Amino acid sequence: MQKKTFPISKEQLSEIIRNYPTPFHIYDEKAIRENIRALRRAFRWAPEFREHFAVKATPNPRIIEIMKEEGAGTDCSSLAELFLSEAAGVTGEKIMLTSNDTPADEFQKAIALGAIINLDDISHIDYLEKHAGMPKCLSFRYNPGNLIEGNDIIGKPTEAKYGLTRDQLFLAYKKAQEKGVKRFGLHTMVISNELRPEAFVYTAKLMFTLAVEIQEQLGIHLEFVNLGGGVGIPYRPEEKPVDLEAVGQGIREAYGKILGSHGLTGIAIAMESGRAMTGPAGWLVSTVLHEKKTYKDYIGLDACMANLMRPAMYGAYHHITVLGKEDALCDRIYDVTGSLCENNDKFAIDRKLPAIDIGDILIIHDTGAHGHAMGFNYNGKLRSAELLLREDGNVELIRRAETLDDYFATLKYPGGLM
Ligand SMILES: *Cc1c(COP(=O)(O)O)cnc(C)c1O
Repeated sequence: MQKKTFPISKEQLSEIIRNYPTPFHIYDEKAIRENIRALRRAFRWAPEFREHFAVKATPNPRIIEIMKEEGAGTDCSSLAELFLSEAAGVTGEKIMLTSNDTPADEFQKAIALGAIINLDDISHIDYLEKHAGMPKCLSFRYNPGNLIEGNDIIGKPTEAKYGLTRDQLFLAYKKAQEKGVKRFGLHTMVISNELRPEAFVYTAKLMFTLAVEIQEQLGIHLEFVNLGGGVGIPYRPEEKPVDLEAVGQGIREAYGKILGSHGLTGIAIAMESGRAMTGPAGWLVSTVLHEKKTYKDYIGLDACMANLMRPAMYGAYHHITVLGKEDALCDRIYDVTGSLCENNDKFAIDRKLPAIDIGDILIIHDTGAHGHAMGFNYNGKLRSAELLLREDGNVELIRRAETLDDYFATLKYPGGLM
């Protein structure tokens, strides 16, 4: 069992809450830096390692800036994410636009920024050329079909909307070559929240073999192979973090055997990890408003699914601790709920916790990735603030909480609520 920790004392948290009322997400800068460093360390053997931080995990310019300081770029999939990347000073080929059903304006912005474009279909080559022009460096997303099993979050590759089949992939490189593109990469993203090192090594082998075939059949020397994101995190105390060193060494071996034996020793390894970089370094902090006892015992928080929707959406487990009661006996069973008029607005169901009092502060763990980012305004609920616990111990507001004015902003237009 791994003890779930929170980097702030009860006293400091009370002080923080005086300035920034709950609920809010708070991220630990030191932990984020350690996570990205561990990933880079695992691939220190590679001729070049590129991490394109998946912006969708924690779309905040301050977080992207930290990533940039650690040598990472960004992986973007929307116009806003491209602008966030630019706002944080990440431009050019430090950006990879991983497109899928992408509109013209996103391709245009990505081309204007000089980003690497990662295409999701052979038909998108013409669309890209027509609407934005061709990039200097183009990549394609491979869908390996039934060569990979898939899991609950990402599903089976054969059922996934993403990527090109193998045959399409070869045709697509050829087509792009004919259009004058000279620099290429290869991408896939077939696993999500995966904890087993073998899964990453398996994917790498598949991709390296493909890189050799692309070289041999098309004469294309790929600049990089991007293995996607999907590095899992131990949401449950009984789970263990991914052994990144084992992932790196396994991939190193495959690199030598498959690429090295064909003289392909200069290909960079790229990844676009999101969850593993920021997930365990974030917490949703919330106050208990109500306790209700009917057929079950309910603890009602001032946070709701609008602040963290993974439990309701995927049945995902997020560990919960009660501030100041970390070592108390967990001899009660509660459903921990939010206030949406939606029965699945629950952070936990039948969870063993210590006896909880109204006014207690609940810490919901591992919310640093795909947490605040997935927020929404159903029921008119407002998204919370995001705070950063800096390495110097100070707390910085990195996104203010939404206000009713924000909510009403889109209703104010000529003929609307002026
Ligand atoms: C979501 C996503 C990622 C990040 O996934 P994590 O599970 O957060 O590592 C990376 N690449 C693409 C294309 C994605 O859609």
